[in-house]
Amino acid sequence: MINADVVPTQEPTEATRYWLGVALDVPLAGLFDYYALIPVNAGTRVIVSFGRRQMVGLVAQVKAAPDIAPGSVKAIEAVLDDIPPMSDDWMRLVSFAARYYQRPLGEVMLPALPVALRKVASYTGKGARGGPVARADKSKRKAAAVCVGDAPPLQLNPEQTQAVQAVTAAQGHQTFLLHGVTGSGKTEVYMHAAKQVLAQGRQVLFMVPEINLTPQFEQSLRARLGQVDNPDLLAVLHSGLADGERLRAWLRIARGQARVLLGTRLSIMTPMPDLGLIIVDEEHDTSYKQQDGLRYSARDLAVWRGHDLQVPVVLGSATPSLETWHNAQRGHYQLLSLTQRARAVQLPQVRLVDTRRLALEHGFSPQLLDAIKARLAQNEQVLIFLNRRGYAPVVSCNSCGWVSQCPRCTAYTILHRTQGGRTHNHLQCHHCGYHASVPRRCPDCGDQDLRPMGRGTQRLEEHLAEWFPQARISRIDADSTRLKGSAEALFAQVHAGEVDILVGTQMVAKGHDFAKLGLVGVLNADAMLFAQDFRAPERLFAQLMQVAGRAGRHAGSGEVIIQTDYPEQPVYQALLKHDYQGFARYSLEERKAVGLPPFAYQALLTAEARALKTAVAFLSEAATLPDTAPELYPTSEAVTRYDPVPLRVVRVANTERAQLLVESDSRPALQTFLATWSADVAALATRHRVRCHLEVDPLEI
Ligand code: ADP
Ligand code: ZN
Ligand code: ZN
Repeated sequence: MINADVVPTQEPTEATRYWLGVALDVPLAGLFDYYALIPVNAGTRVIVSFGRRQMVGLVAQVKAAPDIAPGSVKAIEAVLDDIPPMSDDWMRLVSFAARYYQRPLGEVMLPALPVALRKVASYTGKGARGGPVARADKSKRKAAAVCVGDAPPLQLNPEQTQAVQAVTAAQGHQTFLLHGVTGSGKTEVYMHAAKQVLAQGRQVLFMVPEINLTPQFEQSLRARLGQVDNPDLLAVLHSGLADGERLRAWLRIARGQARVLLGTRLSIMTPMPDLGLIIVDEEHDTSYKQQDGLRYSARDLAVWRGHDLQVPVVLGSATPSLETWHNAQRGHYQLLSLTQRARAVQLPQVRLVDTRRLALEHGFSPQLLDAIKARLAQNEQVLIFLNRRGYAPVVSCNSCGWVSQCPRCTAYTILHRTQGGRTHNHLQCHHCGYHASVPRRCPDCGDQDLRPMGRGTQRLEEHLAEWFPQARISRIDADSTRLKGSAEALFAQVHAGEVDILVGTQMVAKGHDFAKLGLVGVLNADAMLFAQDFRAPERLFAQLMQVAGRAGRHAGSGEVIIQTDYPEQPVYQALLKHDYQGFARYSLEERKAVGLPPFAYQALLTAEARALKTAVAFLSEAATLPDTAPELYPTSEAVTRYDPVPLRVVRVANTERAQLLVESDSRPALQTFLATWSADVAALATRHRVRCHLEVDPLEI
């Protein structure tokens, strides 16, 4: 397991030393010099002592001489040879990610490995006998959780056939955008293309935004791809797996035993020796973006990896991100369109209900209530979509205007209702998790007339139960699905027809194919339109198209009712006509006119400190760094540095946050700038004692 031959028992005198640049998971740039007494390949994991600790590192470089005085270079302590060295293409991928996202190589390489492979404790001490890989190999793997019959392939329609042919005929690399409304048969295209690639003896990486919520998808993939012939065919990777399961799946893929990897964003970093096709379903989905540590876009890395390996990449969506659409429009990606629903089912009819002059009942328009009644009478299911969990977004005093606020954040505390033996109310901060009971009287004026203001999903559920006492109502949001497995159970009830009205947040929008769902009602979409950054309309459009796509998938005559105060907004007008292209054209023109992505490239520096002025002072200095050493910043002329601004929710858990945006219309110019700036900024942050992080291609500003 551990190759002890290399461990020097005494200081060698004449023996040849092999100099190694080792990547370690520490927040310091650069590699660390060590030596070995036998040749060690790049990509090999080693145990080294670093400071007073032992750490698992990865040999990133074999070098002719160390950077520091040879006498002060330490020997590695062990070579870990329980798996072969990481492949060159994997090393290129993680090196690119580190470079592009401006992170130390070790902080990218090591976290990309399963936990057990990067912990010293897996190899030393009691209980480490055999090492993690041997233990994983020995432990009985659960047989594939489903017994599926292989599904007969469907007869593809002409557009699908054309799409499959284009993908499988690709010589070398090509990125395809598969654009088609929900239900247009994109998944069928992926499967047919995947089958052909598998038949050529190559592996397929199939990325999805979310796995836990859609177990049926995994089953249909197994059935479609021929699981029966080869029970080992598929491996699944997502963050919900236990460490041991994750290691086993990773090993099966890395060794080429499993041929298809179905996974969330983290799967992009998995070594795949025979990778022949990458599919990114719902490519616009923001969950492809990692929001901490290495803030990478798995979609973007997929395109890079496909190019590096010279294999095709298929990005699929009903509502592509404007970046991707723009790339397709200018010919960088090849557009494949599915223009109709695959089954002879009409797209749902979208209706806008102008709420400006309507008397709403607890947020519901008479039109929506009538429509719910009608659908229930026909034994169809209804989905009410509101992207706000809890009972009410704030509690307020009717006499003095006091509102419930988090003491640690610049945010309201949300009223939540826990149903147990007795209904119980409490206030909760969605930013920091702060909990408090609801005061009996106003803390400011003593008045007892405290009222919930506005509505969350819990409150909708309560009102619906009053109006439709016969209906079986279920709520799916982050609160109702907190327990492991509860989301699956709730969705299963909906699929089984045991639910008449489903109330939910964005969690219900993704991927589900509810056979009996006839009506979708959307409440308070306007809040999503105006609350956030320049991507808010794009995100709203995608989300509403997706949630609308839940209606009438099987029976047809599906209906979507959107309540809004702004029916004339382009987002809503485009939704009426299911007109993604019109919306994209309009939005891209707008972005171009003001120079926003995809016509500009951005990076965002966020600083956190106890006092806002500390954070802002740091950012202001960070902004002027290039002016103090212009010779180190050859492209700074091409990069715009904006003024630091506090975040919208400036204080979270007693930490004040501010941001600085840098932007360029040239990606190389920005990258050159960031390479120097990120190092300078890190040093500055240490001096200022602020925490900061740099995000390249940020999604939210
Ligand atoms: P998407 O991924 O675009 O939402 P799917 O691939 O899930 O669409 O297809 C939607 C539905 O249409 C599925 O039930 C699928 O089985 C069916 N379907 C897809 N392609 C065909 C086809 N060529 N003939 C008949 N049914 C199809
Ligand atoms: Zn009061
Ligand atoms: Zn808080």
